[in-house]
Amino acid sequence: MVRAEAVHKSFGRLEVLRGIDLEVKSGEVMCVVGPSGSGKSTFLRCINHLEKIDAGRLWVNGHLVGYRESGGRLYELRDREVAAQRRDIGMVFQRFNLFPHMTALENIMEAPYRVKRQPKAEVRSRSLALLERVGLSDKAGSYPAQLSGGQQQRVAIARALAMEPALMLFDEPTSALDPELVGEVLEVMKQLALDGMTMVVVTHEMGFAREVGDSLVFMDGGVVVEQGTPGDVLTEPRHPRTRDFLSKVL
Ligand code: ATP
Ligand code: MG
Repeated sequence: MVRAEAVHKSFGRLEVLRGIDLEVKSGEVMCVVGPSGSGKSTFLRCINHLEKIDAGRLWVNGHLVGYRESGGRLYELRDREVAAQRRDIGMVFQRFNLFPHMTALENIMEAPYRVKRQPKAEVRSRSLALLERVGLSDKAGSYPAQLSGGQQQRVAIARALAMEPALMLFDEPTSALDPELVGEVLEVMKQLALDGMTMVVVTHEMGFAREVGDSLVFMDGGVVVEQGTPGDVLTEPRHPRTRDFLSKVL
């Protein structure tokens, strides 16, 4: 579903990704951990072409992200084609980016109604089903400011799912939440994983990584230092940098 080969990305002279090779198979959950500044968010942003990569190749769902290859050369896709690719990918950030002037239900309906131009009644009933799936049936008419952080984040997940993505990207979805609200969001993500969604999750919730992740990747300094099953990486980290990092977060 996702394949990265020698992905490089710099901001000016700062080389943030220095050759990332990773693969996430369909239906798998990959958790990504690493110190601040190691390039985790940048890598996620490259996956949906919010950042352009400088070298290497990145595929999602069999398509080269942001480019078309022809005769061994790469041609940049037009904005409209990039937007179409992005529709396959849902993204949930640390900060709940809900539209403040729309209710929970309207937030979820917005993209399928406006972008996919599906009939409103159909979008509405599917959106209500999504609200139920994230345990918020009773909050359809609430505005973001009337919801807790955990509830807002669950609406954000439902909103991403409304576009029926093939892949979901999560960038520290619980790290801005009060501790008592973390569990309800992780539970929704766990259900999503059990339903077979392919997911890349940047998180420091090691319990989640161990329980839900198929693989765990440790990034540091723009490279993948170590990867394996969460059980292996967490209990027997091979690299000293992984050991050092885990000793600080576990
Ligand atoms: P954190 O755990 O703090 O979220 P991260 O692993 O997600 O860190 P990134 O956000 O990917 O790290 O940032 C990696 C490096 O790239 C940092 O040094 C950051 O300052 C730099 N960086 C990120 N985005 C930009 C940008 N748009 N312009 C310039 N530098 C950037
Ligand atoms: Mg980040």
